[in-house]
This record gives sequence, structure tokens and C-alpha cells, in this order.
Amino acid sequence: GLCQQASFLKSAAKVQQCPPDEGYEIAFAGRSNAGKSSAMNTLTHARLARTSKTPGRTQLLNFFTLDEQRRLVDLPGYGFAKVPIALKEHWQQHLEAYLQQRHCLAGVMLMMDVRHPLTDFDTMMLDWAEASQLPIHILLTKMDKLTFGAAKNTLLKVQRELHQNWPHTASAQLFSSPKRHGVEEALSVMSGWLEL
Ligand code: GDP
Repeated sequence: GLCQQASFLKSAAKVQQCPPDEGYEIAFAGRSNAGKSSAMNTLTHARLARTSKTPGRTQLLNFFTLDEQRRLVDLPGYGFAKVPIALKEHWQQHLEAYLQQRHCLAGVMLMMDVRHPLTDFDTMMLDWAEASQLPIHILLTKMDKLTFGAAKNTLLKVQRELHQNWPHTASAQLFSSPKRHGVEEALSVMSGWLEL
């Protein structure tokens, strides 16, 4: 599939440095350590998400090309204890601007550790997306760390919360990078957003 052909395009420290706002983009977001890099690599069969791993990097957004009209975007992992407040605020402002202003943004893949779903960062992302009528698909990652029953229970609870609080925005599924569980379901959501 197309996602296997992802290659690094550029980094941007602010919205003004993004590539031209045309075609289709899918952004990947998640609290730091939620499994975002692993999920991006699992979904694309590539080692995409290395560049943005170092805390304190000023890059806001890392762009990857799928084809001339389609891109994936790695958003900064939130929740680094070591990142200075000023940098956090810089990220937050520019991230909000990117989510609200980017016309080609077709949807956001939001990674949450299935053992710690709906953190403050996650609810902030969901609120922004709901305000912009931007779809979010949640990957409840690391499902292999729980029994299937416990993981499924969490999925049902999260789905109930989503339905109550962000009814127009969000869907969710279970995911595991090492077991490759949920890969097809995630790729099918992405293909729909990319109009493939
Ligand atoms: P990021 O900070 O959100 O990019 O998180 P990473 O992808 O770097 O993952 C953080 C840690 O969780 C790493 O040690 C990964 O190997 C581990 N991890 C990520 N996804 C999974 C998963 O689906 N299952 C398990 N068991 N571990 C995972």
C-alpha cells in the first residue's frame, strides 16, 4: 500500500514553514511514550518517527511524503518532564494553530496507552478537533500488555466517553505494534481519509 512508501520530507518549527496546504495530510499525535513512533513505524514499514524523539528539539512537525498529494505528519510527543515550559507553550500554540488552520488535514491518529487512556493531553486534542470538526481515530496501544478481555473493556469504556463528550470527532480501536494487531483496521481508516 501507499503508506509503505513514506519518506521524510521536511521539519517545520512553525505553521508558516509547513509545505503548501494542498492535497491530504494525516497527523499522528500522542502523549510521550504512548507508542506513537512504534505505531507509525508499524503502519508504514519504515523508521519514520526517529527525528522527533529527542526532548527539547524545536521541530514542531515532521512531514513524510506518501505521494505528490498525500503526507503523514508526526506531531511532537507531549508530556516530556524535561521540556522547558516556554517550549511547551510554543508547541501548544503552534499545534493548535496547525490543527485549526490546516485545510489539507484530513484526520488525526491519536495514540493512547490502553492502560492510561484519555490523559489531559488527549482531551485537549479531542476538544480542539471537535471545535474544528476534524476526525480523530484513537489507537489504544500496547493491548498486548493486558488480557484481551481487559483491553476490550477499556475500548468499550473509551468509546462510551467519546460518544458522550466528542460525538462528532472520534472513533477508537485496539492496537499492538509488536503483535501487529489492528494494523488493517487503522490503515483502512487512513485510506478513507486520504481518499484512496
Ligand atoms: P512514543 O514516545 O509515543 O513515540 O512511544 P514509542 O513508540 O517510542 O514507545 C514507547 C515504549 O513503549 C517503547 O519502549 C516501545 O517499545 C513500547 N511500545 C510501543 N508500542 C507498544 C506496543 O504496542 N506493545 C508493547 N508491548 N510495547 C510497545
